Amino acid sequence: MPVTIPAHLLPADGRFGSGPSKVRPGQVDALVAAGARVLGTSHRQPPVKDLVRRVRRGLAELFALPDGYEVVLGNGGSTAFWEVAAACLVRHRAQHAVFGEFGGKFAAATARAPFLAAPQVLAAEPGSVALLEASPAGDDAVDLHATPHNETSTGAMITPVRAPGSAERGALTVVDATSGAGALPVDLAETDVYYFAPQKAFAADGGLWLAIVSPAAVARAAEVEAGAAAEGRWVPEFLSFTTAVENARADQTLNTPAVATLVMLADQVEWLLEQGGLEWAAARSAESAAALYGWAQAREWATPFVADPSHRSTVVGTIDLDEAIDAGAVIAALRDHGVLDVFPYRKLGRNQLRVGMFPAVEPDDVRALTACVDHVVAQLA
Ligand SMILES: *Cc1c(COP(=O)(O)O)cnc(C)c1O
Repeated sequence: MPVTIPAHLLPADGRFGSGPSKVRPGQVDALVAAGARVLGTSHRQPPVKDLVRRVRRGLAELFALPDGYEVVLGNGGSTAFWEVAAACLVRHRAQHAVFGEFGGKFAAATARAPFLAAPQVLAAEPGSVALLEASPAGDDAVDLHATPHNETSTGAMITPVRAPGSAERGALTVVDATSGAGALPVDLAETDVYYFAPQKAFAADGGLWLAIVSPAAVARAAEVEAGAAAEGRWVPEFLSFTTAVENARADQTLNTPAVATLVMLADQVEWLLEQGGLEWAAARSAESAAALYGWAQAREWATPFVADPSHRSTVVGTIDLDEAIDAGAVIAALRDHGVLDVFPYRKLGRNQLRVGMFPAVEPDDVRALTACVDHVVAQLA
């Protein structure tokens, strides 16, 4: 018999994806309002440049940028930024904290670059975290430390993010904040590059990368790019960090961006600021997370996947279900009722629910989701 969930249990909005994630109705209204004025017009003219300026200014305010830091953007999403960093930010050797798929993908990118030494990989089992370490000395020295802020594939987060000691010797700290930015507290002075994409906490569509960069990061890229030719190192224009910085300063991107994404992103940044900024956003995600993990801990058949409570992500919650319960059947029953995208990360292969709890998601909807899971599990039994 198919499982049915009574309407009164359902969340008001059933989107719990970990990226793409829920887009607020207000962002869609902003899109409609942008209509003929901005959509379908040149990205080199004032209306679209104004949008980019709103995004850059809004992010500068949201993150209270330290002196000299700036907001840079380009096309291709966070995945493209890994290649930008490999091409322009790593001088010789990178260090990667790897505790899930996304951290691993960046490590694979620098490992493949023929002009770089093999990266130092600090690995930890999925569900735990690996922390950056001060660089070894000598030939093995690393000049760039890379870590995810929030590992979206496992639901493990690092707070606070800290630069390891070797930053004093000029190494950069580069943080993949794709799913953490805008929903987790951060001290940007500990980072040189804090990069992300719009389809997670910023509730827009994918396709862009954004990065908050320090003067040291800008100087590193200038040095690497200037010396590249002499070293036989190729920096494609599309991957040039310096070119992206120059374009961002003029409120544009190297090539055509998706204007609709910029509209939704600008609206979300301003909405977050109106609600109370980063502190508000972080508290709201933390409220959702407390509801989710508290619920799981009160069930014999559900367990937070991340063992250490201080590393349990407040933006992407992962809950293992007892093997007697088929998580796939639970997820399918939820989907039939419009409760969407709570599947685990594909390659993790666990009997698990994964719940996006970005600031756009109402904490009450997370509570409603848990009630729906209770109901489905009881019916399946
Ligand atoms: C989603 C995600 C990415 C990939 O982002 P794209 O914009 O799709 O390239 C990278 N890192 C983390 C931590 C993510 O959550």
